[in-house]
Amino acid sequence: MRVAIIGAGPCGSALATFLARQGAEVALFDDGRRPELLVGESLVPAVTPILERLGIEEETATFGLVKPGVSFIWSPTDRFSFTFARFAPAVPPYAYNIPRPRFDEALLAKAVAAGANRTVARARLEPTGRDGAELALAPETLAAAPMLAGRQPDLIVDATGRARLSARALRIPAQVGPRNDVAHFAHFEGWSWDDAPGQVLIARLKAGWSWCIPFKERLSVGIVVGREDADRLGRTPAERLERAITVDAWLSSIAGGAKRVTSVATYSNYQLISQRGYGPGWVMVGDAFGFVDPMLSPGVFLALRSAELVAEALSPFLRRRVIPSAAELGSALRSYAAVQTSMLVAWSDLVAYFYDGRMLALLRAGRSWMDGGSSVIKGAAQRHIERHVALQASGVRTTSRYSRGLLRWLGRHGLRGVEPADLAIR
Ligand SMILES: Cc1cc2nc3c(=O)[nH]c(=O)nc-3n(C[C@H](O)[C@H](O)[C@H](O)COP(=O)(O)OP(=O)(O)OC[C@H]3O[C@@H](n4cnc5c(N)ncnc54)[C@H](O)[C@@H]3O)c2cc1C
Repeated sequence: MRVAIIGAGPCGSALATFLARQGAEVALFDDGRRPELLVGESLVPAVTPILERLGIEEETATFGLVKPGVSFIWSPTDRFSFTFARFAPAVPPYAYNIPRPRFDEALLAKAVAAGANRTVARARLEPTGRDGAELALAPETLAAAPMLAGRQPDLIVDATGRARLSARALRIPAQVGPRNDVAHFAHFEGWSWDDAPGQVLIARLKAGWSWCIPFKERLSVGIVVGREDADRLGRTPAERLERAITVDAWLSSIAGGAKRVTSVATYSNYQLISQRGYGPGWVMVGDAFGFVDPMLSPGVFLALRSAELVAEALSPFLRRRVIPSAAELGSALRSYAAVQTSMLVAWSDLVAYFYDGRMLALLRAGRSWMDGGSSVIKGAAQRHIERHVALQASGVRTTSRYSRGLLRWLGRHGLRGVEPADLAIR
């Protein structure tokens, strides 16, 4: 099977590795874009076993920092810290914080070592009706990959991230989420720390929220704020980030005395799920299919998992060394697209609990319930609830019907007088 993968981000490179290992002929189009900073620096625990399967966990450990957990800092008295090890073995006991450009390089090198043919070119796709396909590589893109010898591939994979090349070519609509924020971030040296090494800190700001992601030698500090609030903070990204650090007492205690050692990168922060993820001869993976808000860091997991799912869907054909018919390919990709959509929806629902204050209200209510006198039954109930939240937020079982149902029930009946609106992100 000849597969063209467009985009050498984490998703494209991971899929190229999985497919090349199974004997597919893979042309991996890399646009050669290498910015100094890329978002996607904090990974969830469910990524760790995928890194093992890709054979890059050891290398990741050399440039990444082990992330033992996450702390949510919503006010001077509302600080909740979680370590993944507490939920092991159901949850992998650790994840990583990674400088993304270095991580992407490692994944790409793995794909090339597995036999993928890297083509440095900005690919273009065109709608087509030829040979039952819906999309084709544009002539100059086809010509750029000698491996394809001028013949359209059996499958085109759109791994172009937010560029969403296939959705644009085919005008596929998307379901868009409620927020439209802007994110600014940079790396710092010489920061102060008030938590465990490697712990990721997510803090509520007067408007929006911030992240602190520690690496071996640097700290990534980012803010995610509404556009009007961003304008109020300053004119340029650097002014806004600096001002956000100065005016927030807690953020200032961490990064106020630190030195910025990179430029300030800017991203739009919105949420999007494509209404169609595959068609005759093509499929979307990773961010090209959809992305959710980054507060809980699911993006790279969703990207790598979608690569695995597509590789698994193609595996019966690769094992038998047959080219699937359009109908066979369609039915193999249909279940992948359904699973990917349900993961995107489940993550979007979970993150909404943090934005509207229900999750922090539940944590506060749980704490005061335990402070009011503990018992064996109360302890067991609290552990049960925390375990199911951890299973979702770690990526291990985000789509579990029981875990999601439990959270919904608690959101309605377990708040014990705590008002979620007081703990919402503005
Ligand atoms: C503010 C913010 C913070 C985030 N923080 C986190 C986090 O902490 N943890 C986390 O897991 N996720 C985070 N994410 C999400 C994460 O960055 C993405 O989900 C992840 O990068 C998706 O990987 P991908 O491979 O699908 O796409 P990408 O990483 O976008 O890779 C796509 C690649 O395709 C290339 N490309 C595009 N068009 C073409 C073309 N025409 N031809 C060839 N190549 C092309 C691009 O240059 C790029 O290299 C964050 C996102 C935002 C907005």
